[in-house]
Amino acid sequence: DRGADTHEANLQLGFDADERVYLPAAEMLRQLGIQRVCLLTNNPEKVEQLARCGIAVSERVAHSFPSNGHNEAYLATKAEKFGQAKSGQAESGQARSGQAESGQQTADAGPAQGRSWPAGGCQCGALRYELRGAALDLYCCHCLECRRQSASAFGISVILRSDDLVVTAGQPAVWTRPTRAGGTLACFFCPTCGSRLWHGDPARDPVLSVKGGGLDRPPDLTGAKHIWVSRKLPGVAIPPDAETWPEEPPAGAICRVLGAAPLREIKCLRGLRGWHAACVWGSVMSATDFDPFTRPR
Ligand SMILES: [Zn+2]
Ligand SMILES: [Zn+2]
Repeated sequence: DRGADTHEANLQLGFDADERVYLPAAEMLRQLGIQRVCLLTNNPEKVEQLARCGIAVSERVAHSFPSNGHNEAYLATKAEKFGQAKSGQAESGQARSGQAESGQQTADAGPAQGRSWPAGGCQCGALRYELRGAALDLYCCHCLECRRQSASAFGISVILRSDDLVVTAGQPAVWTRPTRAGGTLACFFCPTCGSRLWHGDPARDPVLSVKGGGLDRPPDLTGAKHIWVSRKLPGVAIPPDAETWPEEPPAGAICRVLGAAPLREIKCLRGLRGWHAACVWGSVMSATDFDPFTRPR
């Protein structure tokens, strides 16, 4: 025992923080003819995963047991790093419905609905960060720049306020590239393993796009918006009900994205002309009809 908690130990061993899967459990329930359950757990993830697998959770029943010297640290880690309720803590919201039954995604399945992720990092583990606020939006970008930066099929952008990103270990390196609109985009990465971590300079830009695959609990892409789908690789399937744009989102999309942000933050976007041009909002920022003072309707 080198003192790592259950979360750290999984990462040190090269696993995801939590690799449990729920489809077999859902399938067993389905075979038994059960479509709706009350779930005895303090783990909201289990409720969410079962709902995603089509089993409605009509109620989460909280465990109630005292913590002691043996389980205190374990329970604290479960609460702090895995978002689990503490013993006896009831769920504040209503329970979820299964997708198969409701035909809709879960209530907080995506960051567009304000869900936040606690932490993430690079592949070698030298660089770690925490996200201390809710994500504003979630994009998959299929443009060439995002394919290159991710060395994969598309880039995943979790949009959040710069103040909400806190580096907790390591020092990122930065590479800056020009954007189509004539600005620059600061791309932060781990100098040891090269993992791309986020785009946007926290010292300059009010919002950043964190690269989704680096999060310990990567985002559910069910509700993600897909942009630059005209450059999508053959064989990549986009959900038929997903919001898509052939290239950049139309003018006004950024207002929707920042609809939850205070007005002063939307105002300071005025200084951001050309930020992130090749990916998320470049043409929106440089569009002459873009009025950052207009609130979304
Ligand atoms: Zn690294
Ligand atoms: Zn892109």
